[in-house]
Amino acid sequence: MDSTVFVGTLKTKFRNATKHKHVTFLGDAAQYETVIEESNDAVYHFHLTLLPSLEHRPEKGNQNQNPFSQPEPELTVCESYGEPSELRIVLNKYPVVENHFLMVTKEFQSQNTPLSASQLFAIYNMLDVLKRTDEGLDWFSFYNCGPHSGASQPHKHVQFMTLPKGHKNFSSELVKQSGNFSPDHSNDPLQDQNIPFAHFVAAVPKLADITSDSLAMIFSSLLQRTLTVLSQEGIHDVSYNVCFTTTHMMMVPRSNSKFDELVGINSCGYMGLILCKNSQILDTVKDNGILSILTNVSCPTHFGRTSDEYDY
Ligand code: AMP
Ligand code: AMP
Repeated sequence: MDSTVFVGTLKTKFRNATKHKHVTFLGDAAQYETVIEESNDAVYHFHLTLLPSLEHRPEKGNQNQNPFSQPEPELTVCESYGEPSELRIVLNKYPVVENHFLMVTKEFQSQNTPLSASQLFAIYNMLDVLKRTDEGLDWFSFYNCGPHSGASQPHKHVQFMTLPKGHKNFSSELVKQSGNFSPDHSNDPLQDQNIPFAHFVAAVPKLADITSDSLAMIFSSLLQRTLTVLSQEGIHDVSYNVCFTTTHMMMVPRSNSKFDELVGINSCGYMGLILCKNSQILDTVKDNGILSILTNVSCPTHFGRTSDEYDY
């Protein structure tokens, strides 16, 4: 599908699905707040969203009640996407921002598996389409992989959402200060020395200069570091979050999907977006601090650690 046509179809589908209540758009009821935290002398901005109506969203899906095996026609934006046409584009039924959508595999694949080279290429193609045709909006994409990642559906899906206006995450700032990351042993992934949790960031070249293989190399190099951290922390279930923008890819190893069995954190948290489904969660977030919560449900930073023979 032509890129301008895609964005037009996405917006029309979203408008109609909202109007006819196939999508429960909750953003209108949201309250927002910016929180600034410091770590060492560095300053980080977070975007808090309080949205009580989100409590109605299903917490956990399963393979028998799987919304992505036969997505609702009213939510389906594109029946076939990617090479080799293994994907569909579907609106998120419970969006927090307008036009929030998902890229799902047509056939069941587990959300616990890494993304393939063709899936990564489809994501970057989509981000490029959105950047070129949806001017003024800052789209990103994310993948919650594994039991502690914050994923609620077991069928493989990648989400696409817009960032709040002017929101800058630490990961984008980090890549601005670096050249392109090429995955070999002399060129380690980027890490922000003041961020207390383990995270691995790679700059991604512009679409014209990337191939599915080069994206797979970047992804597997971040995964290699993630697996090493999880193994060093004694965590045997592999869970991680991945955030994608047109400029970078970031992976965060995860130890727990919720802080205090209350505050659910997925990839969005590591893009600086925290969603609170009630005021108890909001108070817990403010009392404990966001960087501290994000660290509690992931792993301590690996900044400055060098690789050794026991690494993946
Ligand atoms: P995750 O929580 O990362 O596994 O993402 C699953 C997403 O699927 C959530 O954001 C839900 O809002 C969304 N969702 C749940 N049920 C449906 C459905 N029937 N159709 C489309 N999206 C859905
Ligand atoms: P869950 O507990 O699976 O419903 O997921 C809740 C998590 O989804 C939150 O903690 C956020 O990290 C993330 N999330 C999803 N949409 C948004 C959004 N628009 N803004 C902020 N966080 C979001």
